[in-house]
Amino acid sequence: MSKHQNKGNRNRLIDGFGREHSYLRISVTDRCNLRCFYCMPHEGIEWLDKSKLLNFDEIERLARVFVSMGVEKIRLTGGEPLVRKELPRLVERLSAIEGLKYLSMTTNAMLLEQYAEAIAEAGITHLNISLDSLKPDRLEKITGRDCFDPVMKGIGKALAVGFPSIKLNVVMIAGVNEDELFDFIEFVKDKPVNVRFIEFMPFRNNDWNIERVLSYKEMLERIETRYSLSPLKAEPSAVAKDYALTGAKGTVSFVTSMSDSFCGSCNRLRLTSDGSIKSCLFYPAEVSLRDAIREGGSDKKIEDLIQYCLGKKPEAHPPAEEIAAAENRAMIEIGG
Ligand code: SF4
Repeated sequence: MSKHQNKGNRNRLIDGFGREHSYLRISVTDRCNLRCFYCMPHEGIEWLDKSKLLNFDEIERLARVFVSMGVEKIRLTGGEPLVRKELPRLVERLSAIEGLKYLSMTTNAMLLEQYAEAIAEAGITHLNISLDSLKPDRLEKITGRDCFDPVMKGIGKALAVGFPSIKLNVVMIAGVNEDELFDFIEFVKDKPVNVRFIEFMPFRNNDWNIERVLSYKEMLERIETRYSLSPLKAEPSAVAKDYALTGAKGTVSFVTSMSDSFCGSCNRLRLTSDGSIKSCLFYPAEVSLRDAIREGGSDKKIEDLIQYCLGKKPEAHPPAEEIAAAENRAMIEIGG
């Protein structure tokens, strides 16, 4: 236990560098109905047997423990969360947890037209939608599926339902979709939508190399040749650099984990779909909370395992090349 994890903070999620953790990303499945090359290793993955996945009782119990330790924000991820059967029921159970301020989800929108109303009624307020191209053929190339129409219908439905926050996650890859910076800005100009350009990150066998990273600085310079952007104030632990777009409804952001990392103010923990806690996206070490539960472990036991994992959290992620070489889960097995 580090000096920050002293008796006074025993129930707080404070790591060895004094960072307080209030944001938990829960992956509810490793399965997905798309095959994005930057997320799914090109050799594919072996889907987990359903018995290995956390069930809804276990997810709710763990969420309650984390909230009792200071988590205020939960994001549901996957794979693709909407492929998990009866997901709106889980959303309802989580949004009823006292002390939880913010329940959000990241989706590829393939099933959003069908589920948007149900998840909004159940308690999802903040929606991030992955969309890496506005060109149907190119989107098919990136995702491995002919998905443009259902994704666009899903986005249309989300706007119609009126989620308080809708963000588009665009993984920007040099030589793949870098010529669509302006198109995405035009797409959000008249919509209450934030477009987030995400620097390409290395995960297991996702064809990453440094030449394919289009940096925040490069993107900003290109965008400012045509648009006027003004920086917006960010939350202390925000991962994105936000900008207002003069004369537009939409806003623009950049997630800069490769060129300007934000580890110093990291407040994030991750729970994998098979119940392991990861203190850092790029740090391979993890601790199984599922096994502790299934062995009859108490909430105190779970809290101790969480504190143990947090005590080992690194100060920052290593250089990109080291991340690329590390034996870590694939992105689809973590949920980003
Ligand atoms: S790389 Fe790890 S420490 Fe850095 S911001 Fe991401 S999760 Fe936090």
